[in-house]
Amino acid sequence: MSVTLDLSRMAPSSSKEGADAPKPLINLSGLTRPQMVAALAESGVVEHGKAKMRATQIFRWVHHRGITDFAQMSDVAKETRARLADQFTIARPEVVERQVSKDGTRKWLIRMAPGIEVETVYIPSVGRVGALCVSSQVGCTLNCSFCHTGTQALVRNLTAAEIVAQVQIAKDDLGEWPSDKDDRLLSNIVFMGMGEPLYNMGQVADAIEIISDNEGIAISRRRITVSTSGVVPQLEALGEKTQAMLAISLHATNDALRDVLVPLNKKYPLEQLMAGIRAYPGLSNARRVTFEYVMLKGVNDSPDEARALVKLIKGIPAKVNLIPFNPWPGTDYQCSDWAAIETFAAILNRAGYSSPIRTPRGRDILAACGQLKSESEKVRASAMRKLSMAAMAGVLDEDEDEAAA
Ligand code: SAH
Ligand code: SF4
Repeated sequence: MSVTLDLSRMAPSSSKEGADAPKPLINLSGLTRPQMVAALAESGVVEHGKAKMRATQIFRWVHHRGITDFAQMSDVAKETRARLADQFTIARPEVVERQVSKDGTRKWLIRMAPGIEVETVYIPSVGRVGALCVSSQVGCTLNCSFCHTGTQALVRNLTAAEIVAQVQIAKDDLGEWPSDKDDRLLSNIVFMGMGEPLYNMGQVADAIEIISDNEGIAISRRRITVSTSGVVPQLEALGEKTQAMLAISLHATNDALRDVLVPLNKKYPLEQLMAGIRAYPGLSNARRVTFEYVMLKGVNDSPDEARALVKLIKGIPAKVNLIPFNPWPGTDYQCSDWAAIETFAAILNRAGYSSPIRTPRGRDILAACGQLKSESEKVRASAMRKLSMAAMAGVLDEDEDEAAA
């Protein structure tokens, strides 16, 4: 099998330029097992015939035991460990800030590289036990009018190693190593942090392969949800490559309004989007699509729109996640009144759709997020997505998730 190693996985290189500059270290945490086999064989550190066996051994150390230093690989010869460390790294990026809410929500601000900071949030009591909300990009190229990330230009795609690092850091902090430990707190992953995952498909798919690998973190693909604003041409590939659960940021039931809220709709209007969803590989009653619907006062929250939503998604195995809008400075939108949200939910429920509305969690630490604003533009955008990250917890219905398991 031929495997291409993406240079963007590389750890930050030395500032030295030219032929003498040391080769950048390859971050093994971002390689799927087949990629690791190829990388080890190419490195010359491991004999070709033994690369597969060694890769599984190393993969288990990194993703099952959670180690961050080759020296801890007690069943690998000392000389091999030293040679591995010459070409590879398994170090974590730096956690710049960690916050824990009274309700158990945890948040980490992670510096992937100078100026590249992302936020990852762990929300307890979601899914089987708890969900981790990960980012796929720093910033976003799309400009959804209600989303603060949308006001920030794309800084860059995250690499598979940087996506996996968000999970590893959460597991470090939750004491979740080894990965088969009983009573795991981290049961689900949702790609609902910053960025549009389907514009970073290759790295997101690799990260999902690594996170779900049974030799490592072993979070089942049906417990991994990818949220998209509707990049229709990538839906099939997402389903086929990742077998992940699908969440769609719908937010409107007609093109005129969706064009304003989610401008990508101009490129892929509702008719195309709904057809793409209906064709999503593996869609069934046990693997339903989640429609995310942000509740915007006087914009998309009327009973008529609830009825239009029921009509639009008719026949699709689905649940609806009503997200209370999280306002940010400068936005003209407001969150719907609670009564309007309840009326909306009741119409969906009567039509047979589960539509949880979750009280946002971690308010205390998320409020503190605001303090990060002045320090970094990147952090500001990320911090402002606070309630949506917590509210998106509603994407996972605990009972159904159990039933699907
Ligand atoms: N880009 C992807 C995934 C990240 S956004 C997407 O759009 O699906 C994750 C969810 O948070 C999306 O449903 C998005 O619409 C929602 N969201 C963004 N800003 C929000 C806000 N201010 N209040 C509530 N939800 C928001
Ligand atoms: Fe990007 Fe999603 Fe925000 Fe839209 S809602 S701007 S796609 S992060």
